[in-house]
Amino acid sequence: MAIEHDTKDWTWVLERPCEECGFNADSVGTDVLAEKLRDSATRWSAVLSREDVRIRPSESQWSPLEYACHVRDVFLVCYGRLVLMLENDNPTFENWDQDETAIEARYCDQDPTDVRDELCASARRYADRFDTLEAPQWSRPGLRSNGSEFTVASLGRYSLHDVVHHLWDVGAPV
Ligand SMILES: [Zn+2]
Repeated sequence: MAIEHDTKDWTWVLERPCEECGFNADSVGTDVLAEKLRDSATRWSAVLSREDVRIRPSESQWSPLEYACHVRDVFLVCYGRLVLMLENDNPTFENWDQDETAIEARYCDQDPTDVRDELCASARRYADRFDTLEAPQWSRPGLRSNGSEFTVASLGRYSLHDVVHHLWDVGAPV
């Protein structure tokens, strides 16, 4: 069985706690968001040193390495969206096909050490940008191509859930 495409819309996680990983968006104030993003990168760094990093638990699940590649790219894509929202009025994000990217970029063949360095760098750049925001900028809007509405703050929380949830997916501390 191949990896199934994830077509679920996860924006509900901004409204109620995630029963799987325990993430609660309400508990993530804008004052702690950047710190939590950096903390998640540290946890991913540990995952990439695991012996089972290249092993898929089942044919339908990504390996920890593949999840880590995805998380690195979440930080890259969300940084782009954050800058877009800060520099434009209510922009629409370009679509990002996560599953297509995993295949085209050959996530399964990437080097865990390189991925660790890239993940930490992309997380830091993304988190540091949040540190520079003035209060009114947190509510600047943006639109995903499927119509989901975001603000700078909800984009930050949404992306944090994504990287924390995938820690849960690979059995790491969240
Ligand atoms: Zn979750």
